[in-house]
Amino acid sequence: MSYFENFIKANQAYVDLHGTAHLPLKPKTKVAIVTCMDSRLHVAPALGLALGDAHILRNAGGRVTDDIIRSLVISQQQMGTREVVILHHTDCGAQTFNNKDFVEHLRQVLGVDASSQDFLPFTDVRESVLEDMALLRQSDLIPEDIEISGAIYDVDTGRIHEVI
Ligand SMILES: [Zn+2]
Repeated sequence: MSYFENFIKANQAYVDLHGTAHLPLKPKTKVAIVTCMDSRLHVAPALGLALGDAHILRNAGGRVTDDIIRSLVISQQQMGTREVVILHHTDCGAQTFNNKDFVEHLRQVLGVDASSQDFLPFTDVRESVLEDMALLRQSDLIPEDIEISGAIYDVDTGRIHEVI
């Protein structure tokens, strides 16, 4: 039995809470947040966001990748967002490995050569935020007047700290 069956049950209660509403497609705050997939980070309550407020783009580490750029271009040019927040966090899974050892692990368990892949691990969370902010500023696909902020979420306290 998969855990998915629990989701079907839980969703029944959510539907009652949700009611029927048709919110606008374009995010109300005009903000897109790039963040990690970490299960301890519930972005909406942590930042006071409601349904329809913001785009939330998540991947391992909350790193700026080609696909994050793709999503941001759509977010900005189709859905009207004008601001990006890079939100990384303490105790991130992306700090628990390096490319070389991980590639070796994958060779052993999967029998594949993943050496051409950068899994984007990092050691210093402040540096990773600054790096990703710089990637956005350097991208020709992200206009100069898009506001870019960075922050670190503390998974132990729930507090965010701005990175400047
Ligand atoms: Zn993480």
